Amino acid sequence: MNDAPSPRCVICPRQLLDHETGRYICLPCEHRIDQDLRKLAGPAGLYARLCLRIQPGRGGSDGPVVSGTPGRQLPGGEPLNLTANGGIVSDLETWVRDWATYGLATIGTGGRLQHRVDQAITTLRLNLPHAASRHPALDDFSKEVYKIRAQAETIISGERAPRRIPVTCPCGTVRTVTLDTDGFQCSGCGTEYGHSEALRLTVAERRAA
Ligand SMILES: [Zn+2]
Ligand SMILES: [Zn+2]
Repeated sequence: MNDAPSPRCVICPRQLLDHETGRYICLPCEHRIDQDLRKLAGPAGLYARLCLRIQPGRGGSDGPVVSGTPGRQLPGGEPLNLTANGGIVSDLETWVRDWATYGLATIGTGGRLQHRVDQAITTLRLNLPHAASRHPALDDFSKEVYKIRAQAETIISGERAPRRIPVTCPCGTVRTVTLDTDGFQCSGCGTEYGHSEALRLTVAERRAA
């Protein structure tokens, strides 16, 4: 038994256990950071899936090309910024450069954005167990990785199932549209509705309900 209280994890308030002596962070926190990083990497990771959600071929993104309406973008333009150079990839590479000054990371060789993301995550995960006892700013690192992971998950899950809203044409025909509908032609009476007219039908529907 020590007289002095054992030091605490710099991320969570837990006191470090005997087998965690000399570390800045506890093992559960290390594990959580590792999981956040792991989820972001790879062809099925959050970064790759985020790239699939945004319009292809813009902003210097070299993410997977998917067909889609040109100019389509989520509200606020966030995914584009997140997946472009200067977004997630640059945030991660900034930490790689920082960790490299402690001898805790290998700076990547560049290449496609997805490759750069994967390289950064690989070296950060590889060195995380050492960083746990050698890097004093793991609190900031942990917060940023958490934020990136949570933000990506929120956008992906929000986009996965666009909300479908029933609309009723004055002729009585009912169909569903999404909030970003380009409009439609009523299958009952042939009336054409543009984006805003279509959404007005949903308002009318809600008022009537
Ligand atoms: Zn902790
Ligand atoms: Zn109609």
